[in-house]
Amino acid sequence: MKKALFGTLVGVLLIAACTSPKESADLLITNATILDVASGEEIPGQMIAISGDTIMAVRDMEESDDFSASKTIDAENQYVMPGLWDMHVHFRGGDTLVAENRNLLPLFLAHGVTTVRDAGGDISISVLDWRQKIEAGELEGPSIFTSGPKLDGPDPAWPGSIEVAGPGDIPAALDSLEQLEVDYVKMYDGSLSKEVFYGIIAAAEERGYKTTGHMPMSADILKGVDLGLDGSEHLYYVMKACSPRADSLTKVNPGYGMMNDIIATYDTELAEEVFQKLSENQVYITPTLHIGKTLSEILDVDHSKDSLLPYIGSGIRKTYRGRIEGAKRAKAAGSTMRSKMEQKSMEMIKPMYDHGVPLLAGSDCGPFNSYVYPGGSLHNELERFVSAGLTPLEAIRTSVINGPAFFDLEDSYGSVEPGKTADILILQKNPFQNIQNLLSVTSVLAKGKVYRQEDLRQMMQAVKQ
Ligand SMILES: [Zn+2]
Repeated sequence: MKKALFGTLVGVLLIAACTSPKESADLLITNATILDVASGEEIPGQMIAISGDTIMAVRDMEESDDFSASKTIDAENQYVMPGLWDMHVHFRGGDTLVAENRNLLPLFLAHGVTTVRDAGGDISISVLDWRQKIEAGELEGPSIFTSGPKLDGPDPAWPGSIEVAGPGDIPAALDSLEQLEVDYVKMYDGSLSKEVFYGIIAAAEERGYKTTGHMPMSADILKGVDLGLDGSEHLYYVMKACSPRADSLTKVNPGYGMMNDIIATYDTELAEEVFQKLSENQVYITPTLHIGKTLSEILDVDHSKDSLLPYIGSGIRKTYRGRIEGAKRAKAAGSTMRSKMEQKSMEMIKPMYDHGVPLLAGSDCGPFNSYVYPGGSLHNELERFVSAGLTPLEAIRTSVINGPAFFDLEDSYGSVEPGKTADILILQKNPFQNIQNLLSVTSVLAKGKVYRQEDLRQMMQAVKQ
């Protein structure tokens, strides 16, 4: 009797298990090989369930029966990884170029870039509006983190900057940024004094804001690090710290004119100490290698047939002239600083990575930065990292892992795991084997919204000139 009852009970439970309602998701990606960018593992036969903008579950295909969804993407023989982050982009050029800047947004998505860090410009109100609209699903584009206006001295290099003439102006400048609800603080060195540079770092640190940017050449990056500096853009400032003659050269000429002598006296042992300190303090360095190469070769390369040029508005194209004129002046003056910078920068990448300095992939794309195209240039930057000695996986980490880490957002991004934001790339080929395989995108998910190849093509077509 007891045995029969037990048998019946097991039977009922089994039926209950088989007919229990399935968990419903909005989308299932099936048969995927998930690429774990942190560990380098490739995990085949996976199902990813997505609800709204979030990954709700990841299962082996054999255990995927508990989920149902109205949409399914079969990723058989394909690779799934988190979306790319471009950590240095610009939207700028004044009110007349707002629409052309907005037209750059689809270029990012079409190249698998699902998040950008805007490094400041003069159309901050528009950028902050796009940030909110993209977040709300009312505008198509990558998630935006923005510094809002740059902080510069009394004679700023770029329009739209907040002028911080002396230390007394720092609280009001940071108040303005707080009111705009910017995501971090970007400094620029048009005329920023070193006292103000140090003062901004310390004051922003107290308010809980991350700081990065350019540095006045009169200042010392390692002193900035002691005060709480979180990042540095381009390699001039790290490079300066790697010359034992930095102090004496600063006394003679505290400007970029010292770079030739800095490069000539670069000391690899001193550099190791500098990298160690940057690593210990987790200071995020954005080398911007691709733009360095592009600008150093700008007079020798014909860009008229660049495949992405037709997607750039005529107003933005006009802003490209400034860099070309600048390069002509430099050439006439016999300056070879840019190409020396480019070469030394490439040499610094591998030692920095090996010391644990967190590198960031940033393209510096946007108006005024000639022929550095939104979306495509991030891939060029990752290729430069590989040329400099990183493996494709290590290069990808500078975007997918270090990007979110700069903003302390590791819990929401950086892997295809439950609870993370559904910013996802589906790729035909494995980018761990070859960095160029990152371009084999068949679908991009931005906050759970699916863009198939055809959707991406149409978005690109809509902004073509
Ligand atoms: Zn920039």
